[in-house]
Amino acid sequence: MTFENSLTHAQQLDQQDPLAPFRQQFIIPEHNNNKQLYFLGNSLGLQPRRTQVHLQEVLNQWAQYGVESWFMGEKPWLQYHDTLTTPLANIVGALPHEVVVMNQLTVNLHLLMVSFYRPQGKRNKIICEAKAFPSDQYMFETHVKHLGFNPEEVIIEIGPRAEEHTIRTEDILQAIEQHKDELALVLWGGINYYTGQVFDMAAITKAGQAAGAKVGFDLAHAAGNIPVQLHQWNVDFACWCSYKYLNSGPGAIGGAYIHERYHNDNSLQRLAGWWGYDKATRFLMQKGFVPVASAEGWQLSTPSPLLYAAHKAALEIVEEAGWDNIQAKRKKLSNWLWFLLEEVNTTTAEPVIEFITPREEAERGSQVSMLMLRDGKKIFDELTKAGIIVDWREPNVIRLAPVPLYNTYQEVWHFADTLLDILKNKV
Ligand SMILES: *Cc1c(COP(=O)(O)O)cnc(C)c1O
Repeated sequence: MTFENSLTHAQQLDQQDPLAPFRQQFIIPEHNNNKQLYFLGNSLGLQPRRTQVHLQEVLNQWAQYGVESWFMGEKPWLQYHDTLTTPLANIVGALPHEVVVMNQLTVNLHLLMVSFYRPQGKRNKIICEAKAFPSDQYMFETHVKHLGFNPEEVIIEIGPRAEEHTIRTEDILQAIEQHKDELALVLWGGINYYTGQVFDMAAITKAGQAAGAKVGFDLAHAAGNIPVQLHQWNVDFACWCSYKYLNSGPGAIGGAYIHERYHNDNSLQRLAGWWGYDKATRFLMQKGFVPVASAEGWQLSTPSPLLYAAHKAALEIVEEAGWDNIQAKRKKLSNWLWFLLEEVNTTTAEPVIEFITPREEAERGSQVSMLMLRDGKKIFDELTKAGIIVDWREPNVIRLAPVPLYNTYQEVWHFADTLLDILKNKV
């Protein structure tokens, strides 16, 4: 594919885009009576128009049937969950019964740690990414403390080498090998939130398990963004949030994957609640926890059908657009952005952008993280003034993520054009 840096070419790319009509399915926020150039689907995905409709259905059912809505109406709430797991399983490469929609991400990380971090003797170490998303760091720190461990002693963080921004797979594998006699768990990200680096989940899983550890992934930035094959890679467990690339709304209900080999494993510890209880006998309200023999056995509390509805609205759009089409556009849109940004860098007297996201297509998703070599904050403020929504991360990084379901090639062109104008004339 050869690109050409012009608005006409951007228009052609949009005309040829089979997913172009899907933009209409989303509400694009405005700036000075124009549509914003919204590039933060990696932070909060935009609202599908049909979300309102699905929410209203749940409200109507509640109004009409009250508590009987769990069993009655067009979509009885007790079965609502079943409409979500298959589309989600397709997105994360799992079997439907390996996926459960529940809680939120950090909560699920703690719950899955209960089952999959079982320190024994000197095998008590955890390998994770250095500078993981803060919530993950706090989760590790407090979780190991509550088990009586010193975080400094059991948590092994692997980071980039000096002068590098991304973490080399060989360094992760080497650390696993080095600690193989004392390793209980490898819990890693699918994509790093700061750099946008995609990790080699298959290789990490294989190495971690060969060392005798359990292996799990936090897919916050991966789910709905890149292809993932949790089951095929034999991953033990994973969880994610649904408000980023999965467009299911602020505070959306999260999701988790638990490999089927654990569904009947009574030796695993878990923290239970009545919603994880065997469905056939749940309402007998008896003593003694009997889990559902699927990922649903990890549920605790009564879920919110309102959150299910928002999730369903978004998952339907993914199904209608087709996952393969979404992946094809993600790559092309992202390659277009890289092409234009590299042009910006050669047009200015000195390069202003250092890319900290890997250039290699297989090692990045939708997100590009740019380390600004001068005037970072001023550039960011000028972009904001122009109605371009990207984000700022200290000390000097601008992140953006054009997403295939609602961003256009023209928007990306306008972004690069505006950035160049700011660099030449405004800072
Ligand atoms: C977004 C994100 C979170 C947020 O967790 P919540 O519990 O949903 O607030 C956690 N971890 C990572 C890696 C993230 O990217």
